[in-house]
Amino acid sequence: MLQNSQENRTNLSELGEFGLIDHLTANFKPKLKSTVKAIGDDAAVLDFENKHTVVSTDLLIEGVHFDLAYMPLKHLGYKAVMVNLSDIYAMNATATQVTVSIAVSNRFPVEALEELYSGIELAAKIYNVDVVGGDTTSSTSGLLISVTALGVAEAEDIVYRSGAKPNDLLVVTGDLGAAYMGLQVLEREKEVFKANPNSQPDLDQYTYLIERQLKPEARKDIPPLLKELDVKPTSMIDISDGLSSEIIHLCKNSKVGANLFEEKIPLDPALISVCEEFEIDSTMVTLSGGEDYELLFTISQNDYDKIKGNPNLTVIGHMTAENEGMHLITRANQKLPLIARGWNSMNKEEN
Ligand code: ADP
Ligand code: MG
Repeated sequence: MLQNSQENRTNLSELGEFGLIDHLTANFKPKLKSTVKAIGDDAAVLDFENKHTVVSTDLLIEGVHFDLAYMPLKHLGYKAVMVNLSDIYAMNATATQVTVSIAVSNRFPVEALEELYSGIELAAKIYNVDVVGGDTTSSTSGLLISVTALGVAEAEDIVYRSGAKPNDLLVVTGDLGAAYMGLQVLEREKEVFKANPNSQPDLDQYTYLIERQLKPEARKDIPPLLKELDVKPTSMIDISDGLSSEIIHLCKNSKVGANLFEEKIPLDPALISVCEEFEIDSTMVTLSGGEDYELLFTISQNDYDKIKGNPNLTVIGHMTAENEGMHLITRANQKLPLIARGWNSMNKEEN
């Protein structure tokens, strides 16, 4: 993890709004051909020629979406970009540009915003997107960060939530639940630290889980992989809120039902052991946890051979007729209705 290094504290007022924008964006040099004009004018100018443009935006608010007690600002910047790129990849598109808007209270020194922007810069570099604009303003309390991501795709390649058909296979990338349990570990350490500020947490065994929470990676690799495999999903969504609610979104938009098989849900060994330690059901975590930023999609059964054996992809179920409903088939072969948070028998705090 990266630590906040805030020995130097330069007050935001020393730079002024324009000085601050210049300072924070000095390293953002556009690289893509589609970026005609980036930061520095009244608006950015982009040229996607004959392709379709996809746009997505997210707003993150301190105290609601992140807690700076355990979220280093560099990671926050990185994650704010990731959550948006994930939405672009979920359309089967290529992410190309982002804009970044921030509102900050004067409790943040310039150095804190430098850290935030170093995370944004790293994400832009690794994911090959240009930062082409944004807005900077003050807030009376806390930090707000809003990122808008743009991407591009051939019209015929775009995948919506609405195309799944009965009998299509339900496929997920990567493994699920780790980000949520990473958050549980961080929350627990925060309480321990409050009680004893000298405690030195040993988090080594939780590295994977904490990384999944603090430094999620969007699945940039999946749209080109699908192209290479010659598979066009019939529907797709990214997993931000937990498997259960994403399956429900696909089903509702596509007017189909689904059977999800508990035994097929991909779990990392670190997730299994932390769930044992916290005495929490790992299936419940994957269904309701969220922030995995994996992709969930459906494919025609005819395409099964093309994805079979790919280590990035796991078939976890299939779609059904709409009137059959949406179900989890448990390891004990029970059929439980899927609901937006977990499943019925575990439903404690449905809202
Ligand atoms: P305006 O008054 O037209 O909103 P600004 O002075 O806010 O213009 O912005 C000047 C330039 O800097 C614009 O290109 C804008 O997109 C960019 N910009 C402003 N704030 C940010 C930010 N936080 N991150 C990235 N670019 C920014
Ligand atoms: Mg502005």
